[in-house]
Amino acid sequence: MVPLLCPEHGGDKCLEEVTLSPVEHGYLYYVSRNDPDITREYYYEHDPAFMEAGRKQLRVWRKFFEEGVLPATQTTGKHPFGWNWTTDDSPCKWCPFGPTGSYVCKEDHQETVKRGDLLPLAESAAIELAREARPDYDLGLVRAAVFARWNGSAAN
Ligand code: SF4
Ligand SMILES: [Zn+2]
Repeated sequence: MVPLLCPEHGGDKCLEEVTLSPVEHGYLYYVSRNDPDITREYYYEHDPAFMEAGRKQLRVWRKFFEEGVLPATQTTGKHPFGWNWTTDDSPCKWCPFGPTGSYVCKEDHQETVKRGDLLPLAESAAIELAREARPDYDLGLVRAAVFARWNGSAAN
């Protein structure tokens, strides 16, 4: 075992071994890269059942990504949250992805319903939007980078 040295005293006489308790809560800080003035702080308490449910959902979404399709929750009818689409633009008009956003979610969902089948990622309206923001956007490169990250990480 590597001998422990106190950086201040150069020895180990002042050191005391402590067994840390498992982490039970923590904070997540978010700083926007576009505008670092925009920050958020989230407090979390460890909830094993909640974590397991979340991981299970992530595995579902990951499978969709691997198969190259949008993770639609349904291919028929209403808004994925069960709301009705109305002629006065509800519910989108209340939503940050609606009038002030791009409506890509609505377009994709309605296309999914029209086809009655899942929409390939490559055909999502979001791809076109991404190309408007970054002309060199390449879904293939993005997917390759994500797979490389997954394959290289122990957190599979
Ligand atoms: S803009 Fe998108 S996320 Fe917002 S309500 Fe409409 S479909 Fe739903
Ligand atoms: Zn010391």
